[in-house]
Amino acid sequence: IAESDRVRDGIAQVTYEDIGGLKEEIQKVREMIELPLRHPEIFEKLGIEAPKGVLLYGPPGTGKTLLAKVVANETNAHFLSISGPEIMSKFYGESEARLREIFKEAKEKAPSIIFIDEIDSIAPKREEVMGEVERRVVSQMLSLMDGLEARGKVIVIAATNRQNALDPALRRPGRFDREIEIKVPDRRGRLEILQIHAHNMPLYEDVDLSRMAAITHGFVGADLEYLCKEAAMKCLRRMLPELNLEDEKVSLENLDRLIITKADFEQ
Ligand code: ATP
Repeated sequence: IAESDRVRDGIAQVTYEDIGGLKEEIQKVREMIELPLRHPEIFEKLGIEAPKGVLLYGPPGTGKTLLAKVVANETNAHFLSISGPEIMSKFYGESEARLREIFKEAKEKAPSIIFIDEIDSIAPKREEVMGEVERRVVSQMLSLMDGLEARGKVIVIAATNRQNALDPALRRPGRFDREIEIKVPDRRGRLEILQIHAHNMPLYEDVDLSRMAAITHGFVGADLEYLCKEAAMKCLRRMLPELNLEDEKVSLENLDRLIITKADFEQ
């Protein structure tokens, strides 16, 4: 991919290549979201409805938000993101107004993807909620989703870490009726994620990413990204005395000495 393709509106854009592991999940996302956004006519021809809502569930930091951004980017869809807790923290009546605004903008700028992170905080199971506010916000959201045209080009992607804590009304047909589980990466997924995040880093030959993938069982994408950044910071701290930061610019020669070693990853 040419560098210029990765940049839109001056902002670096994420693509499928920025996602490590999750091959099957990406495949499902492409069928459920990309296909209907790109080719609504196929669904029309087949006489079936394209999904309006897709639920991504799995532990924090596994790439749910990343995946939603990538699909929006790959389909050139307008991307609108809302966080559940943020919506719920608004003043009386404002949460519903904000949701209406978002759905309105999505329709105007279609094709669009609305991403709702931590949806469980907006729509927990009825028995867990009691607040009147939650009830109003949930019913506003359901009516906004019901109001989306079946073949309109707006798809709502919601993410949650607690799939069982969701109001079942949300999962009825025509709402979030498709689900994709986003799992903790296996060894191969971890290797791909490490390769992505270490891609632009100057690594010394003793750094063995396969070995790192083998010993980081249980790490999610966000943890692996942090691990790479920390290694770079350790390298920087180690080299600091030699960099001559007094100079306006660090000399190329000194920059060339910034090389991340195995020890930077391990300490
Ligand atoms: P949360 O539930 O906390 O919102 P999430 O599942 O939405 O988490 P992201 O916000 O997408 O997780 O992940 C945080 C960061 O971790 C991403 O921006 C990315 O840099 C990195 N990351 C996570 N998963 C992956 C992955 N599969 N491949 C590459 N990078 C990843």
